[in-house]
Amino acid sequence: MTRRLDGTSEIPLSTADAEFRDEVRTWLDEHLISDFTGQAHRGGPDDDDNWELRRAWEAELAAGGWLGMSWPREYGGREATLTQEIVFAMECARAGSPPRAAFHGETLMAPAVLSHGTDEQKQRLLPPMVHAEVVWCQGYSEPGAGSDLANVACRARREGDEWVVSGEKVWTTFAHHADWIFAIVRTEPGSVRHAGLSYLLIPLDQPDVQVRPIRTMLGDSGFNSVYFEDARTSADNLIGAEGSGWTAAMTTLGHERATSVLNYQFSFVREMSQLRELATRRGAVHDEMLRDRLVDSYIGLEIMSHNNMRSLARALVDGEFGPEASIGKYYWSRWHQSFTELAMDVLGPDALLGTSWGDGPDAASEGMRRAFIRARAETIYAGTSEIQKNIISERVLGMPREPKPVT
Ligand SMILES: Cc1cc2nc3c(=O)[nH]c(=O)nc-3n(C[C@H](O)[C@H](O)[C@H](O)COP(=O)(O)OP(=O)(O)OC[C@H]3O[C@@H](n4cnc5c(N)ncnc54)[C@H](O)[C@@H]3O)c2cc1C
Repeated sequence: MTRRLDGTSEIPLSTADAEFRDEVRTWLDEHLISDFTGQAHRGGPDDDDNWELRRAWEAELAAGGWLGMSWPREYGGREATLTQEIVFAMECARAGSPPRAAFHGETLMAPAVLSHGTDEQKQRLLPPMVHAEVVWCQGYSEPGAGSDLANVACRARREGDEWVVSGEKVWTTFAHHADWIFAIVRTEPGSVRHAGLSYLLIPLDQPDVQVRPIRTMLGDSGFNSVYFEDARTSADNLIGAEGSGWTAAMTTLGHERATSVLNYQFSFVREMSQLRELATRRGAVHDEMLRDRLVDSYIGLEIMSHNNMRSLARALVDGEFGPEASIGKYYWSRWHQSFTELAMDVLGPDALLGTSWGDGPDAASEGMRRAFIRARAETIYAGTSEIQKNIISERVLGMPREPKPVT
């Protein structure tokens, strides 16, 4: 008997969770229709031209009560359990739902607000996210601060009831669509490294903020440079204490590495299933080398799944994602690069022929081609592979810090 590859048999569910899964399935059957179908492969900054559709899907999710699901009810959540969140992510991936538009706010900034924000900030910032009213973007990277994030130079000074911000952020995904940016800025003049940084929320719709698109090799402009020239934000938009922004920044990064794993893993299950079909249809399953690599990919996916479940279970006990989240990020991004390279070999010379999304007889092939190109960036964002290895070596294995290069 062939084992189902749709991922639904992975977790044993209680009666209540099985009912929840059925509720999600029914909702998806009723709402994931017409234009929302056929968009599943389209995620990331290289897929910018389906933005309006992604926003519409976000509104649909909000109306269904599926945003901020695990948050307390007082902030608009439904206090869903981690298992229910997993079930929801799994069902969306299985059904092929469109990629999220506003994940930066809900999955990256909100955890920092929940952990470090005041009650007033939670009341003010979280409900609009649940209703899909505000789009946030992430302002961490700068030309001199990528992997070395503690090198942030963008600064903010206090003037009365406001912070005044000057400097530059780069690679800011969807800044051109966003209403607000959550940024790491230097608030203590003369401070170095992690000290003196703060986590500041800044409205983008003001004349002293300029958002300039960066064009990618796919011809899209999903990410941007953002320039602040004495831009202003209210003093109550500082999350956590002044000068302790590094801690809040790490809360966001921990969630970025850990939660991204879930959504990716389930979409990989779907891609694996599609590639198996594609390989069968094209006869590639009779090529012993390709067949061997397909099996290796499947084994990798199983390892990913078990490791992710283990670290999620651990996070449930510890209440937070530890440095082990880096193992998941390192593993899935490298696995997906190798998997999409295999997909290109299955397609052979046809991999070079692009068709438009969703049309033509072979939309799955086109999806694989886009996934292959997009996978190049996956070992870079949310911390490069080398940085994940540094974290694992120092904070998981307890090895000595690597020597700093002599300058
Ligand atoms: C698709 C995409 C979307 C992004 N979206 C956002 C966003 O919305 N907001 C945001 O703030 N940023 C975003 N980024 C930026 C991303 O976070 C940075 O690209 C990443 O942190 C790496 O920084 P860098 O590009 O400056 O490379 P660098 O840090 O300059 O690294 C260059 C190379 O040197 C290696 N390296 C650096 N330091 C070490 C070390 N100590 N040991 C070993 N090797 C090292 C790196 O691994 C890498 O291979 C995005 C990036 C991509 C690709």
